[in-house]
Amino acid sequence: MSQADRRPRFPARWDTAEPARSLGHLRSVPAPSRVGPLAKLTPTDRPSALAPVPQGAAALAATSSGVGLDSSAVRTAMVQRLAAQGLQHPAVLRALHQVPRHCFIDTALIAQAYEDTALPIGWEQTISKPSIVGRMVELLCGAPGARADTARPLVGRVLEIGTGCGYQAAVLAQVATEVYSIERVRGLHERARANVRALQLANLQLILGDGMQGYASGGPYAAIISAAGGAELPVVWIDQLAIGGRLIAPTEVTDAHGRVQQALVVVDRTAHGLQRRVLEAVQFVPLKSGIESHGRL
Ligand code: SAH
Repeated sequence: MSQADRRPRFPARWDTAEPARSLGHLRSVPAPSRVGPLAKLTPTDRPSALAPVPQGAAALAATSSGVGLDSSAVRTAMVQRLAAQGLQHPAVLRALHQVPRHCFIDTALIAQAYEDTALPIGWEQTISKPSIVGRMVELLCGAPGARADTARPLVGRVLEIGTGCGYQAAVLAQVATEVYSIERVRGLHERARANVRALQLANLQLILGDGMQGYASGGPYAAIISAAGGAELPVVWIDQLAIGGRLIAPTEVTDAHGRVQQALVVVDRTAHGLQRRVLEAVQFVPLKSGIESHGRL
């Protein structure tokens, strides 16, 4: 093998065959099971109406540097793929097209920015796959209190637990009137701040804190979404949910055979009480308590 052959290629690839523990997030998303009323696509919203473009990394590779990419066209292709997999809500598809995912990840991984894969963001955490971001945000947009027919279906405040690099927070800021996102790792919180700055999202507030406590000063929330999973749902999250609001979080559940696994849990708060549903199995990073100010990248 020549020296050149041994040299790592650039941009480097993140191998999704790595152990799930280090990936943290979903490796596969089952066909979405629909929850709540979803808005109908109009012909102009329909991603299939968009012009065909080169796929994912191939499109990025087609540019000379990989940085001056036509990211809008690559995102169009990503949205088309997600729509083909079942993602339907026009506002969510529009939001995923709007947010430049490549601005939230390390430049070494930029060629994979629009692939449906989780990628490392430092501090042993990962940016979620676009399909799981779409799935969860779509579930929120189907909440009883959400508006079905508008670009911003989520009226009121949304709380995200686990800002990470800020990508999902930026997507939420496209579909909600107001978003609070809380992160416990100081380094990630600061990185997310830097990542979202250029997007000038006046309706997004990033907070450093322990999201297991929720964020009482922003509540009650029209929606709460967690990007990290614990053994059970913290009671304060339910307390901070408005009537008509929806909470979605990965949480441990016990299946019919007594096996404990993580699944997406949806809780709707209605005037008559709480409705809890368990959806598909997922694999998110752990929900941890306290604030972490040190630690390695
Ligand atoms: N939504 C993120 C995904 C980040 S991964 C994105 O788009 O990049 C989940 C994040 O949850 C990690 O950054 C982790 O540090 C954070 N987290 C875990 N427990 C938390 C807690 N109690 N409060 C706030 N953030 C937490």
